[in-house]
Amino acid sequence: ARQFTRPLNDLANQWNTLLSAIAGAERVFEILDESVEAEDEQHAVHVDHIEGAVVFDDVSFAYDTGDGDNTLQHISFTAEPGEMIALVGPTGAGKTTLIQLISRFYNADQGKITIDGRDIQSIKRESLRSHTAFVLQDSFLFEGTVMDNIRYGRLDATDAEVQDAARLANAHSFIERLPEGYNHRLNRDGGGISQGQRQLINIARALLADPSILVLDEATSSIDTVTEIKIQEGLQRLMEGRTSFVIAHRLNTIRAADQILVLRDGQILEKGSHDQLLDTGGFYSDLFYSQLHSSDARQA
Ligand code: ADP
Repeated sequence: ARQFTRPLNDLANQWNTLLSAIAGAERVFEILDESVEAEDEQHAVHVDHIEGAVVFDDVSFAYDTGDGDNTLQHISFTAEPGEMIALVGPTGAGKTTLIQLISRFYNADQGKITIDGRDIQSIKRESLRSHTAFVLQDSFLFEGTVMDNIRYGRLDATDAEVQDAARLANAHSFIERLPEGYNHRLNRDGGGISQGQRQLINIARALLADPSILVLDEATSSIDTVTEIKIQEGLQRLMEGRTSFVIAHRLNTIRAADQILVLRDGQILEKGSHDQLLDTGGFYSDLFYSQLHSSDARQA
């Protein structure tokens, strides 16, 4: 088994690279060393259209680290097309792993994941990823113009389409105020724009990619209020009509979710809407009330 150690480490590194990356997932996955990932099954098919019904049916998964512990255990849930699913839980609970399984970064060891009723193992990875976009905390920008950075979501988009996506994302007005507008050059560290503005560019990029499935990792870092409102609005437009998985830190986001999956130690501890979970009383409701009190305390 030792011979697998290196590729797995590489894969982990690549996921980290990806985390500091993305939207319009397909191209980023192209960057990954193909030899590391398992090849598509022979019968895997290309899928033109994805509606976005995502079902986990008793899914378990362990990283191949040899300790035998399952990182995810018996995960089952159903996401209807267009639903927003909030993933909540402490660090190490398995939230990131769960979303990695959806785009087949890894295959489940047990159980089945289906999209629109089709086992994802029978869908070509490239197909899967061309219908998925990621908007992650540490938005990935590359050396190039703002225009190029947004167009990364869909390479054949016209300038007008890029600008339309930027308008929807609430990014257009700040871009126009940049010294060279859409021709303003960015670098990996941003290039004179704020963290919040990077997020807006990332949202524009994802809008342009027009995915059926979205993966969002909500920013934990503080962003000024005005930009924060723009981001929330942009995200709302982006999530509209798409099945969205949000690693959520904000109460408002969590409350708006159709379903909340509360994860701990690789298991779903509780699932349901905000109101349902409060009614049940349990981990989530404890968390909710303790946060409520601490924010009351801050305001007092
Ligand atoms: P979360 O996103 O909720 O913080 P993760 O899915 O990142 O949780 O991690 C779940 C568990 O899996 C943790 O114990 C973590 O240490 C482990 N883990 C995550 N990535 C890897 C990896 N590439 N190789 C081995 N173990 C991993």
